[in-house]
Amino acid sequence: MTDYFSYQNDQLCAEQVPLDDIARRFGTPCYVYSHTALVDGYSQFDAAFAGREHLICYAVKANSNLAILHLLARLGAGFDIVSGGELQRVLAAGGAAHKVVFSGVGKTAAEMRLALDAGILCFNVESAAELMRLNEVARDMGRTASISLRVNPDVDAKTHPYISTGLKQNKFGVAYAEALALYRKASELPHLRVTGIDCHIGSQLTEISPFIAAAEKILTLVDALAREGIVLEHLDLGGGLGIRYCDETPPSIADYAVALLGALRGRSEKIIVEPGRVLVGNAGVLLTRVEYLKHGEEKNFAIVDAAMNDLMRPALYDAYHEILPVNIRTTSPLPNPLPQAGEGAIEKSNVLTYEVVGPVCETGDFLGHARELGIVQGGLLAVMSAGAYGMSMSSNYNTRPRAAEVMVCGTVVQLIRERETVHHLLAGEKTFVL
Ligand SMILES: *Cc1c(COP(=O)(O)O)cnc(C)c1O
Repeated sequence: MTDYFSYQNDQLCAEQVPLDDIARRFGTPCYVYSHTALVDGYSQFDAAFAGREHLICYAVKANSNLAILHLLARLGAGFDIVSGGELQRVLAAGGAAHKVVFSGVGKTAAEMRLALDAGILCFNVESAAELMRLNEVARDMGRTASISLRVNPDVDAKTHPYISTGLKQNKFGVAYAEALALYRKASELPHLRVTGIDCHIGSQLTEISPFIAAAEKILTLVDALAREGIVLEHLDLGGGLGIRYCDETPPSIADYAVALLGALRGRSEKIIVEPGRVLVGNAGVLLTRVEYLKHGEEKNFAIVDAAMNDLMRPALYDAYHEILPVNIRTTSPLPNPLPQAGEGAIEKSNVLTYEVVGPVCETGDFLGHARELGIVQGGLLAVMSAGAYGMSMSSNYNTRPRAAEVMVCGTVVQLIRERETVHHLLAGEKTFVL
């Protein structure tokens, strides 16, 4: 639980609104976001880097809802995109193209044209082949593309192997040993302008030391480049700061910034960071209803109406999300004495250990293993810390329309994405006729 999602009168609320009310009004499964959490997260980042010229480029892939992009754009954020589609989202949300950096290992020529046309700040180039292609695309358009090389600093982010990106064996970035030669080459290509350097070593980092190790390696390269007359304007240190899902103790935004700024002392380049998860992760929950309780021979199952297609992280990374009952009193007659409001304050008399699973036909379709929950059929659960890589990774597997999304600010509730219908899903499909 956080300040933004807390129990009030035994009801789990998003800010001042009971999640029960939201479920009644908008149905389940439903993602619910706290506007205040988003504003606070961005403001903390902005304040932490206030001492020097900086740009906070929110990593759109963490959660790309237009309302979230619009809010962050209004607060002054830039954006880190990984596709042409994300660029179109940013522009549709009112984001400024000149604050956009474009990452990703497989940019197509069409995506490059889109980004050049919009006038983005910088392409974070990830290979020699991409460098050549970008130069050609820019030439054909009569433009110059601003570039950074995404350098792979070969540091261990000490995170889950699927979300570690800064090791030699990862597909991301250009090898540290090859970066200097590639920068020389880039500086000679007529339709490119070398403006920066970039690294991103992974996601859900809970320690500061890998960030600092990466920054130091990058700075060594920056100095070597300067000696050859290649002077950079900005240093992009990527995203990756972790959040608390369970018992992790990630550094605070302020501590992270102080450490980074310490490593960059005496430098005049503009700083870019690309936070995703840390800005949205704990600003959202996935609200789901218990369809059935099933008591198997070895395990109890709570079968809920959200599934791996709605929230893929448990199935994909074996990720942990806290799961809380929304209404403490629906469980049974009031216990005596009453539980303390707050985390774990569930009615104890009918608490069982549940596998919280979805309806999808996969054994990997679970939201939580071995959770102590006091729940009844028809009750509501909140899957916590679901704001990042939740909705943005959702799919239509099992022909399940995607969930609705709702934003709350104080007592104000608004639908920010309609629940999909099967009609949407079938719209582009056709029968094959011979
Ligand atoms: C995903 C990604 C980010 C954001 O990572 P978080 O862990 O969500 O902060 C930043 N930069 C790049 C290049 C990414 O691919």
